[in-house]
Amino acid sequence: MNHQAKKKFGQNFLRDKNLLMKIVRESNITNQFVIEVGPGQGALTTFLASSAKKVVAYEIDLTLKPILDMLEEQFENLEVVYQDFLEADLSIYSEDIHVVANVPYYITTPILFKLLETRNIKTASLMIQKEVCERLLATPNSKQYNALSIILQYHAQASKMMDVKRHMFFPVPNVDSAVIRIVKRKESLIEEDKESLFIHMVKEAFRQKRKTLVNNWHQGFNVPKEKIESFLIEQGYTKDVRAESLSIHDFIKLVRMWKND
Ligand code: SAM
Repeated sequence: MNHQAKKKFGQNFLRDKNLLMKIVRESNITNQFVIEVGPGQGALTTFLASSAKKVVAYEIDLTLKPILDMLEEQFENLEVVYQDFLEADLSIYSEDIHVVANVPYYITTPILFKLLETRNIKTASLMIQKEVCERLLATPNSKQYNALSIILQYHAQASKMMDVKRHMFFPVPNVDSAVIRIVKRKESLIEEDKESLFIHMVKEAFRQKRKTLVNNWHQGFNVPKEKIESFLIEQGYTKDVRAESLSIHDFIKLVRMWKND
């Protein structure tokens, strides 16, 4: 069956069986409940359904239905849901979820946030742009370090599983890719009642990367600069410190000590 790849849905399909098998193997998929985002023509889905207990695959493009119907007939443990994954209600699943996906790159960040914020998602293996992978795994004082690197670290331990060259896809995209492996933390790094403040403080800290922490927090929280300066000095930092030099542990310490009066 012929399917014309659609750019607007980020369709770049994989075909290499060795690569697909490697992704499934290194994701430790044996007998779990798996969600796939964007099965496309089912290349990865076939290997997932051969290993997992159950696979639910969310696909936005209805024109792929004839191809995916055949896969559903072949695998009893496969269910394809034709819905925007970002709209999907994952709270209907009571079991632990493992996500494996060659993600549509135009929605990488919202997909990532949805996975991080859904409690019963335990692991995720995601094919993403190599450059995005580097930004997500960046460490303090590097150019790529940003709020999302810290928010990811807060929710999970993450590492690069493999690099994937652009010519492995059809049609060939104009960027290289990488698979990131995300294993969610069992214990939270910060008290539950401080979690949203933590996320907010991290996001505001990086709002304008060239500005100091004092300036970014002053603008973001409407708190006088002098108050933030003396708070930072009390905690052992200089008043011109920038977010990019702070580790996740620095942020945790600052959020714990911050008093909002
Ligand atoms: N898994 C296939 C593969 O590896 O060959 C296809 C991967 S392709 C990069 C991304 C897939 O996600 C496409 O099938 C596309 O139609 C689908 N997609 C795009 N946006 C989506 C969304 N919001 N929800 C669900 N699927 C989506």
